[in-house]
Amino acid sequence: MLRIENLSVSYGSREILHEISLSVQSGEMLALIGPNGAGKSTLIRAASGVIPFSGQVRTNGDTFHALTPMQRAKYIAVVPQAILLPPAFTVWETVLMGRTPHLGFLGQTSRADEELARRALERVHADSLAERRVGELSGGESQRVLLARALCQSTPILLLDEPTAHLDLQYQVSLLELVRKLVREDNLAVLVALHDLNLAARYADRVALMVAGRITALGAPRDVLTPELISHAYCLPVDVVEHPLSGGPLVLAK
Ligand code: ADP
Ligand code: MG
Repeated sequence: MLRIENLSVSYGSREILHEISLSVQSGEMLALIGPNGAGKSTLIRAASGVIPFSGQVRTNGDTFHALTPMQRAKYIAVVPQAILLPPAFTVWETVLMGRTPHLGFLGQTSRADEELARRALERVHADSLAERRVGELSGGESQRVLLARALCQSTPILLLDEPTAHLDLQYQVSLLELVRKLVREDNLAVLVALHDLNLAARYADRVALMVAGRITALGAPRDVLTPELISHAYCLPVDVVEHPLSGGPLVLAK
């Protein structure tokens, strides 16, 4: 379980995140939504320990401040927003890098590490890509490889920053279906920034709406994706109707 308490982040004298608090339970997928610049990526970067923050990030009683980056990497795996993977490595080598925090000091991978990498590739339906160079992959393939690397890390918490950006609809749906399956089967705690409100409504257990570095609403999709809250957050009049297939909320720009 992931618990973020009073987390603030500043760049120079400018405070970007203001006392954010939220928890993600094991077996839960929490979507972060909000307009561009609201602070979703900054929150994910702070929670994963790559930028300094004030406040607390905890998991099962351990405070992240007290952990080394390698120790932290046993708890949290991250799929960052649209990064370029080192192009010369093969997919297999890249996924196996997920095992780094678990290796002994010689950094030697074992049969068991390889088995985990094989299984991670299989789960994202990328086993046929194993020998390919990362530089040759399409956007959708790279995104699946990044997810496989994160899964190979075998952490109880997974953070994803707009994992469906640049994917076509088929890949958006299959990637989120897969993440939801992982949440259910492996009891992962998932915090995912999602750009698309209707994908958030469809896949998340709960949704946190961020505006200008604050969480302005947090709850079930139907309680957060309301015309009032969304129109106000995005400065755009919207309607919310019942999704004809799922029965959940469907946001339509007016
Ligand atoms: P989101 O992911 O919701 O679009 P971000 O977390 O990327 O938002 O950005 C939040 C705010 O922080 C924006 O105003 C952005 O300009 C600012 N910001 C992000 N990264 C930096 C940085 N490295 N230095 C200064 N300001 C930054
Ligand atoms: Mg972002």
